[in-house]
Amino acid sequence: MAEPYARIALIGLGLIAGSMSLALRRAGYEGEITGHARSAETRKIAREIGLVDRVCDSAAEAARDADLVVLCVPVGVMGAVAREIAPVLKPGATVSDVGSVKAAVVEAVAPHLPENVHFVPTHPMAGTEHSGPRSGFAELFDNRWCLIVPGEGTDAQAVERVAALWRMLGANTEVMEVEHHDLLCAIVSHIPHLIAYTMVGVADDFRRVSEQEVIKFSAAGFRDFTRIAASDPTMWRDVFLNNKEATLEILGRFTEELFALQRAIRTGDGEQLFDYFSHTRSIRRGIIEAGQDTDAPDFGRVKPR
Ligand code: NAP
Repeated sequence: MAEPYARIALIGLGLIAGSMSLALRRAGYEGEITGHARSAETRKIAREIGLVDRVCDSAAEAARDADLVVLCVPVGVMGAVAREIAPVLKPGATVSDVGSVKAAVVEAVAPHLPENVHFVPTHPMAGTEHSGPRSGFAELFDNRWCLIVPGEGTDAQAVERVAALWRMLGANTEVMEVEHHDLLCAIVSHIPHLIAYTMVGVADDFRRVSEQEVIKFSAAGFRDFTRIAASDPTMWRDVFLNNKEATLEILGRFTEELFALQRAIRTGDGEQLFDYFSHTRSIRRGIIEAGQDTDAPDFGRVKPR
């Protein structure tokens, strides 16, 4: 079994870092967890709730002497944080990140890292629409996938050690190439978010005509869109700016399908609509069978009283 890290630094103290810290403790992790966030306010909250063992006022202070440093900041600032911590990194340490985009992060981070440090990018495929130091919870990664995306020639032991950490946090792990990761995530995560943002924006325009009706009578489909569209604006701005090629490619395909369905509606082609919806229904069943969602009605939501 891979040796656990004696000291772990989490840079950024939001949903992902907070959940990592809580999951590490749940797993009985005995080493020290240090952390840093940009704002004094977040650092203050993190200290108050004891999110990590030691909250530091700079990223460099948190990363000093750490055996593993995980960058848990928005994709657009990964490079700047890597530059800041590079001079204090311990020889033989591993730097990792949890960014939702990989090629752009590797390009931004790798040039700053000294040669005697391993770089093992990751992407836990788990999240919620909440953000900030109070949003994390220990179960976030349970039975979710964490994609491990090392560059060519990365030390195999360093990769396995990071993968073992994610399994300790409750996740399943799979090693994947950078470009494949970015295309896959454009399909399963980035474009669905863009569609949700768009649909909620369209409904908001409509609301101006029909006052509060869109909110008052919101049906399950729309409510699910609003949940996704409540996701952190900084994070998602950075995702699209940094995964341009793959998201534009998938968006092009999406538009073509949408036009085909639009045409089927206009021409009254019920057979095409039925076949299309039957196929998509079978995909949903596959997700449930794979244990990645619940089959409970309304996604198992507890009804508000
Ligand atoms: P979050 O809850 O908004 O937390 C981001 C944290 O980064 C905050 O503590 C923020 O500090 C800090 N930060 C921002 N800029 C910084 C800087 N220059 N230096 C130091 N700290 C800085 O975000 P999150 O959801 O945990 O996301 C973190 C990363 O995980 C992102 O790269 C995202 O793409 C990835 N990810 C997110 C999800 C998801 O669903 N949320 C899923 C998988 C991966 P302040 O509070 O002081 O601003």
